[in-house]
Amino acid sequence: VALVDDLQELASRVSAGERRALAKAITLVESTRARDRVRAATLLGALPSGGAPSVRVAISGPPGVGKSTFIEAFGLHAIGQERRVAVLSIDPSSSLSGGSILGDKTRMYDLSRHRDAFIRPSPAGTTLGGVARRTRESMLLCEAAGYDLIIVETVGVGQSETAAAGMTDAFVVLLLPLGGDELQGIKRGIMELADIVLVNKADGDQRPAAARTVADYRSALRLLRPRSPLWTPIVDSCSALTLEGVSDAWTHVLAHHGVFVETGELTRTRSEQARKWLWEELTDQVTAWLRTDAAMAQALAACEAAVVRGELAPPAAAARILSNLSPIR
Ligand code: GDP
Repeated sequence: VALVDDLQELASRVSAGERRALAKAITLVESTRARDRVRAATLLGALPSGGAPSVRVAISGPPGVGKSTFIEAFGLHAIGQERRVAVLSIDPSSSLSGGSILGDKTRMYDLSRHRDAFIRPSPAGTTLGGVARRTRESMLLCEAAGYDLIIVETVGVGQSETAAAGMTDAFVVLLLPLGGDELQGIKRGIMELADIVLVNKADGDQRPAAARTVADYRSALRLLRPRSPLWTPIVDSCSALTLEGVSDAWTHVLAHHGVFVETGELTRTRSEQARKWLWEELTDQVTAWLRTDAAMAQALAACEAAVVRGELAPPAAAARILSNLSPIR
C-alpha cells in the first residue's frame, strides 16, 4: 500500500507539472528491471486522462539535415504560440553501439533551457521495440505534465521511423536541398510515412537548389499513396538558421492536427495505436513471464534443448510448452 501511495503522489506531482517529478517518473518507465516495470505500469495507470489532445509530431531526417537546429527553432516558435513543448527521441543506435547518432553534443541549447520545454534523450535499451515503448510511456507522462506539443525525433535511417510513426499523429521529414532519394540516405519507406516534407537550409546560395528539391518531391509524392485519404502531404522549404518558413511549418502541423481532430481521424488513429501497443505489451510480458516463471522452467529448458538438437520442430515445441498453460485458461 505504501508503494501505491508513493506512486500516487508521484503521479500527482507529475500532473501538477513538476519538472523534477516528471524526470523521476521517466527514469522509472525507462528502467528495464522487472520490479520497476510493475511500478511504471501502476504509475501510468494513475495518471489522469482527458483534456484537449496534444499535438504529436514525429520529426525525422538524415544526420546533418538540421534536425536539432530545426526542432529548437520550431519548438521556440510553438512556445511563442502558448504551447509547452516536450522533445523525446528514438535512437536505437544507443542500444546497439553504446554511441548514438543523435549524439550527446549540446543540442537545442536555448530550447533546453526554456521553462516551457522539456527535452529527454533516447532511453538506452536492448531492442528498438523496448526503446520505442519507453518513449511512448514518457510521452504519456509529458502530456500528463501539461506538455501539449510532443516532438518525437528519430534519425532517419530505418525502423525507428516506423516506431515513431506508430506513436504520433503527423510525420515530418526534413531533407537537404539536393534532390534524389539515394543522395539523401532517405528510404522510400520513410517518404511513404511523410505527412509534411520540409527542405531545410533553404537560405543563401542554397535557395535555388531548395526550390528544385521542393518541386522534385512534390512530383515524387504524387506517385505515392498518401498515408491518410484525409491528408495530402505538403512539401515546403524552410531555414532553421534564418527561421524563414518555420512559422509556416507550424501552420502545416496545426492544419494537419485540425483536419484529424475535425474528422475523428485523430481518435481513430490513436485507438488503433493503443490496440497495437496493448498487443506488443502482452507479447512482451507473456514472453518475459515464460522466461522467468519457475514452474515453466523445466518444460521450457527441455523443449528448447530438443529444438537446438534438431529433435523437435520449433512449432511442436511451442505447442508442447503452451499445453502446460491450459489449466489457467
Ligand atoms: P542534425 O544532425 O540533423 O541534428 O543537424 P544539426 O541541427 O546538428 O545541424 C547540422 C549543421 O547544419 C549545423 O552546422 C547547423 O548549424 C547547420 N544547419 C542547420 N539548419 C540549417 C539551415 O537552415 N541553414 C543552414 N545554412 N545551416 C543549417
